[in-house]
Amino acid sequence: TGDAKKEHRGGEHSMLAPFTAGWQMKAGVPLVIERGEGVYVWDNKGNKYVDALAGLWCTALGFSEKRLVAAAEKQLNTLPFYHNFWNRTTQPALDLAEQLVDLFTASKMSKVFFCNSGSEANDTQVKLVWYYNNALGRPNKKKFIARQKSYHGSTLVSASLTGLPSLQNGFDLPVSFVLHTDCPHYWRYHLPGESEEDFATRLAENLEKLILKEGPETIAAFIGEPVMGAGGVMPPPKTYWDKVQPILKKYDILLIADEVVCAFGRLGTMFGCDYYGIKPDLVSVAKALSSAYQPIGAVFVSQEIFDAIAKFSDGYGAFGHGFTYSGHPVPCAVSLEALKIYKEIDICAQVNKVIPPFQTGLRQLEKSSIVGEVRGVGLVCAIEFAADKETCEAFPAKWAVGTHFAGQCASRGMLVRVAGDIIMMSPPLIISPSEVDFMVKTAMAAVVETEKYVAEKLS
Ligand code: PLP
Repeated sequence: TGDAKKEHRGGEHSMLAPFTAGWQMKAGVPLVIERGEGVYVWDNKGNKYVDALAGLWCTALGFSEKRLVAAAEKQLNTLPFYHNFWNRTTQPALDLAEQLVDLFTASKMSKVFFCNSGSEANDTQVKLVWYYNNALGRPNKKKFIARQKSYHGSTLVSASLTGLPSLQNGFDLPVSFVLHTDCPHYWRYHLPGESEEDFATRLAENLEKLILKEGPETIAAFIGEPVMGAGGVMPPPKTYWDKVQPILKKYDILLIADEVVCAFGRLGTMFGCDYYGIKPDLVSVAKALSSAYQPIGAVFVSQEIFDAIAKFSDGYGAFGHGFTYSGHPVPCAVSLEALKIYKEIDICAQVNKVIPPFQTGLRQLEKSSIVGEVRGVGLVCAIEFAADKETCEAFPAKWAVGTHFAGQCASRGMLVRVAGDIIMMSPPLIISPSEVDFMVKTAMAAVVETEKYVAEKLS
């Protein structure tokens, strides 16, 4: 109707204009971010904020690393583009692949496939695994197991691997070859009296039951984030990865580590796999690979998988997959510079210095009667509000407690991520102790105001 058209087209903040991210459709007047420096960003009204999520868990080196800008400029002036098809490539792509293979030591990787994002990396994983199983003559070993509340991306397949109904509702997802097993969130899902270790055992047993029910010969791979991130920051319970990995081995199921958030120092180790002793067959990275200054993602592939694929693709002519911008020389050059900086400043040592004040500081919020749990590891953390700490009962959604808290943080100069009543933080890895102190104090002040807000609602 005419009215509907007006509603869609009219107004300064029309639905159609900022259509790049679905959630902007709901958000009313957008916050326009204009510039950045260090861990700070400024909006177009001149307000300064610590960006507590590092953009989207990605600007590891903050918002003003001139060396990354210089690397991009130099590459643009030398060779602004060349592709990686038909055995052609560029030196930045070759160098970056080589360095990534060397950097990942949790298990032996041999090749790197470049793409533009984490979602593309995970979609690529599915095709690689299928191709591999076809090469081994087992085309029915096709299904993927992911976890509820995981986040693996937004494309059709990566959104299917994702365990969040909000990414699937209305899209006929997940696709039928994806199964989901338990979310390893101890606080919310443990049974009365169950220890973390027992919880991990139960989840591993459930995984095995699912594999046996479906038939191990039909399950191709398991995909997991070392620490679940966008679904609400859920570090696995103690011994979880130790118990899951042997089961996958037992049934010849490949393990894909989705390192899109954890890689390049976020947990105080170069990769999340190093932190948890995960030995994957395939790895996805993106985000901090270029410190987000250029879009790039990558898949690391083990020798065994590569060899099988290479032999098989000889028959076909090629592994039929690739993007125009796979291995684009500009993001590759920027990523090479980012890796150089991570090495020079010893990013893991830097992160390890600020992890204790970050984690212990934010844990203090658990003293508040309205905070159900504060959880995290490394430089990722979530604060979850709850009406009841024991039962995990939520506040009424219409109270929008999380949004209220985020508003309190913003008015004090800190931007956080809100997902319902879960607040997430993963600051740039270069954050200083005094900036961490500011974050903690801001969160504490915002909680005090949020307690008053909740008290008013309850009265
Ligand atoms: N995997 C994980 C663990 C992520 O956190 C994300 C994004 O947040 C993705 C994959 C998808 O990456 P992208 O948004 O670059 O497609």
